[in-house]
Amino acid sequence: MKAQVTFLGTGTSHGVPMIGCPCDTCHSTDPRDRRTRPSIYLDVEAGPKVLVDAGTDLRQQALAHHVSRVDAILFTHSHADHIMGLDDVRRFNVMQGGAIRAFADGPTCEDVRRTFQYIFTPADQKGGGVPEIVLTAIDGAFAIDGLSVVPVPVFHGRRPILGFRFGSFAYLTDCNRIPDESWPLLEGLDVLVLDALRHRPHPTHYSVAGALEVVARLEPSRAFFTHICHDLPHEATNAALPAGVELAYDGLRLDVEV
Ligand SMILES: [Zn+2]
Ligand SMILES: [Zn+2]
Ligand SMILES: [Zn+2]
Repeated sequence: MKAQVTFLGTGTSHGVPMIGCPCDTCHSTDPRDRRTRPSIYLDVEAGPKVLVDAGTDLRQQALAHHVSRVDAILFTHSHADHIMGLDDVRRFNVMQGGAIRAFADGPTCEDVRRTFQYIFTPADQKGGGVPEIVLTAIDGAFAIDGLSVVPVPVFHGRRPILGFRFGSFAYLTDCNRIPDESWPLLEGLDVLVLDALRHRPHPTHYSVAGALEVVARLEPSRAFFTHICHDLPHEATNAALPAGVELAYDGLRLDVEV
């Protein structure tokens, strides 16, 4: 199936610009240096519209990139920059007239149920409404309306989280180690999206050098880096990357085969 990926956000948890930061990237006039919190939107042709993570900036991202339908949400993990937009899915519930399916690993399901307890506890009064979410724990590969989803376990520091593979496309945000059993799940990719926070090493994210090692081993046709902090100005960083590897930016769209 053909699908279009939109990078809704490509920034690290603080976003870029960072509040109160005097650096050049945070004051850049290049729109590609304005990075909201990390998320992608997968629009499968004649198929489901899937959000990977529901980050802090979801509302602004949906407005900026004309997202008007969400059939399912996949959570990579429960850090705030990946879940804090969940309340905004109320609009999709209203427009679509129903609940939205959401999928996450067991610990992330628990965190989401605790963080958003009001969603999962019947309200005594409707008020502005609460999101209608049907949250299911992921246990191996599954499908959403014909879209096959392969969860790819990766390590985000000590914490095991999930990346996702859809056909020839894989999205691995927030990671700094791929365990032995996950490498075979990432063979033969056309497009790999991978965490590359900055040049300096970090305890829970790949650096640019670390991400390039992963790309060299997996040899996807194209690779795009995301979850980028203000240490990496777009133009200069991108120009120094090897052929076939690019920094993603908010609003970037890719055609992929899922
Ligand atoms: Zn993150
Ligand atoms: Zn800065
Ligand atoms: Zn994280």
